[in-house]
Amino acid sequence: MAETAKTVIIEEFGGPEVLRIVEREVGEPGPGEVRIRHKAIGLNFIDIYQRTGLYPLKLPAALGMEGAGVIEAVGEGVTHLRPGDRAAYASAVPGAYAEARVLPAAQVCPLPEGISFEEGAAMMLKGLTVQYLFERTHPISKGDFVLFHAAAGGVGLIACQWAKSEGIRLIGTAGSAEKCRLALEHGAEHCINYREEDFVARTREITGGRGVPVVMDSVGKDTFDGSLDCLEPLGMMISFGNASGPVPPFNIGMLAQKGSLKLTRPTLFTHIGDFETCQAMARRLFDKVLKGEVKIDIAQRFPLEKVADAHRALEARQTVGQTIITV
Ligand code: NDP
Repeated sequence: MAETAKTVIIEEFGGPEVLRIVEREVGEPGPGEVRIRHKAIGLNFIDIYQRTGLYPLKLPAALGMEGAGVIEAVGEGVTHLRPGDRAAYASAVPGAYAEARVLPAAQVCPLPEGISFEEGAAMMLKGLTVQYLFERTHPISKGDFVLFHAAAGGVGLIACQWAKSEGIRLIGTAGSAEKCRLALEHGAEHCINYREEDFVARTREITGGRGVPVVMDSVGKDTFDGSLDCLEPLGMMISFGNASGPVPPFNIGMLAQKGSLKLTRPTLFTHIGDFETCQAMARRLFDKVLKGEVKIDIAQRFPLEKVADAHRALEARQTVGQTIITV
């Protein structure tokens, strides 16, 4: 009989209640694919966008973009992984919320012995995102200020540490005093509680009125306009998410009025689309973690059966740092 695995699917878009666990056939990997048995699964805000239909998927759909585990089988043409290898990935193909799955091998990376499965599952999507934000999007030099929203979140706490290790002066924002404390502990130079304080005025104050050369904004609707007002002339606005809702249509003339600003809206999956680039980016990230420059602390764990509770907590701003779905 064909092997099955507990897998989380949605048959309609909606709230956390649409997440359903089914037994699904795993199948054999085709050319260029691998089959992995998960030891841990990463939770990401993108999973919420896909569940609600903000980023539509063809239904029924499996969810989850990040995981770590042991390779069980490799398809034709896969040479960088073998059965029995430890591996971790961020994949553009959803389906990580499962005990086991088949997926394209190009984004699956050998996981070094010094990194646990939980760390691997928590850091691929978020850590590779931080890497492309700081190293592949806009030149940032030692000593430069960067304004980074939601600095105590999953991507955020990795960003704080990455910035610190590179001598970049990160000004974080976060939604509570406790979250600000965490961001500071992880290497942010300043942290603004943007539920209580005007982050534009405070950023101007910190930078002596000048503003910052780069803003990294994943909050979207609620912060977009203010973020532009934090930039110095010729500054770069990196809008990379929509935790508060998508940014409404925008008059690009504003970029001229506010000082010849630049604006980009990147996604990780462009950066890791190519096999060699993805593997090289992962090696750089693993190196940072193995050197201790970036620590991956798992702050929340939810069993696969309770994945809806994990979604509720992430959406309600109740999580900090990394969240793992256990299998
Ligand atoms: P987080 O752990 O950062 O959770 C999101 C955080 O956003 C919350 O904890 C909260 O922090 C803040 N937030 C502000 N307003 C809201 C709101 N109205 N509802 C919910 N949260 C809000 O999530 P991730 O680390 O998984 O992802 C961070 C962001 O980065 C997401 O927007 C995600 O989509 C984006 N992303 C983009 C990628 C890309 O390549 N484009 C890749 C990876 C992630 P607080 O309470 O402190 O405000």
